Amino acid sequence: MQIETNKSLRQFNTFGLDHQAAFFTEVADEKELMEALQAARKAEVPAFILGGGSNILLTRDLPYFVIKINIKGINIVREDSRHVWVKVGAGEIWHEFVGHAIRHGWGGVENLSLIPGTVGASPMQNIGAYGVEIKDVFDHLEAVVREDGNLVTFSGEDCGFGYRDSIFKQKSKDKYVITRVVFRLDKFPVLNTTYGDVEFTMHELGFPEPSIEAVSEAIIHIRSKKLPDPTVLGNAGSFFKNPVISPEKFHQLKAIYPQLPGFDTPEGIKVPAAWLIEQSGWKGKRWGTIGVHAQQPLVLVNYGGGKGEDLLLLSKTIAKDVFEKFGVKLQTEVNLV
Ligand SMILES: Cc1cc2nc3c(=O)[nH]c(=O)nc-3n(C[C@H](O)[C@H](O)[C@H](O)COP(=O)(O)OP(=O)(O)OC[C@H]3O[C@@H](n4cnc5c(N)ncnc54)[C@H](O)[C@@H]3O)c2cc1C
Repeated sequence: MQIETNKSLRQFNTFGLDHQAAFFTEVADEKELMEALQAARKAEVPAFILGGGSNILLTRDLPYFVIKINIKGINIVREDSRHVWVKVGAGEIWHEFVGHAIRHGWGGVENLSLIPGTVGASPMQNIGAYGVEIKDVFDHLEAVVREDGNLVTFSGEDCGFGYRDSIFKQKSKDKYVITRVVFRLDKFPVLNTTYGDVEFTMHELGFPEPSIEAVSEAIIHIRSKKLPDPTVLGNAGSFFKNPVISPEKFHQLKAIYPQLPGFDTPEGIKVPAAWLIEQSGWKGKRWGTIGVHAQQPLVLVNYGGGKGEDLLLLSKTIAKDVFEKFGVKLQTEVNLV
């Protein structure tokens, strides 16, 4: 295991922010992970676990022992006539795992095509897109307890999955390192094409009939048009979560803003944060090297040379304006580090 000091993290976060880690190492298996955790303890520096860096905002140079997870492997661990249980290393690239599942004809993750990042981070915020969340295909995960190095497993119920949320972002924050995730995939896929333009795009792309490949290709096509590619323009996807408000609050706002969109959820009415941000005048606004994306107001961008602390200030200013105008609190989806 090679340990580097004062390592630039520019290549390791999709905002492309040039902040440094006090210590940096990459681990390829559980043994190396435990060694790295031990090295961090010895150096008396807190460990920070890094996947693909697509859901973090580095707000400063990190006085941390950054451990990049490179644990690989995709293996069938169980099978019956309808399902296959696949264990995937935390360091596998999420979209490559989706491709693997599609090539084998296993359904369940095709709607999550092209989400950046690693498999190990996917349970952190219960990644979701186009009507599917990983909780729908999740069986269990393996993790290492950061404090004592013990190996533990978590069922879906243990993970407390919610909308872009899990216990790993809440009460168990910074307690575990996810090392492997087991998904239960379908040998006879049931397609979910009702969300957005998926069905229309499958026809447009000329697929003769719906299939997991067709759904995946349609979603890749839509996402590539809608979202900025982080290799071209630094960003971390949706910066804020869509707030969920009470029906009373929604009706109050609707009386003032008849165009306000809202979607029923078991927890309340989900309102698009992008709409609130746009109405607050932030769509396409630029602060020098950083700004709000011109087509997607939920996406903050680094045009090049931006600083994490400035992006943090921009996000706080946007949230303050939205609160002053609508009385709705925006929460960040991106992890502030
Ligand atoms: C263009 C773009 C589009 C996106 N679209 C979506 C979308 O449609 N839906 C969606 O849900 N998300 C989306 N995201 C967000 C992001 O892709 C996901 O949150 C992804 O799961 C992050 O993975 P990562 O490996 O990059 O995590 P990182 O950014 O490296 O880490 C995120 C958090 O998880 C922790 N972490 C990472 N790996 C582990 C591990 N193995 N064990 C314990 N903790 C860990 C980190 O410490 C950090 O707190 C998008 C991002 C971008 C840039």
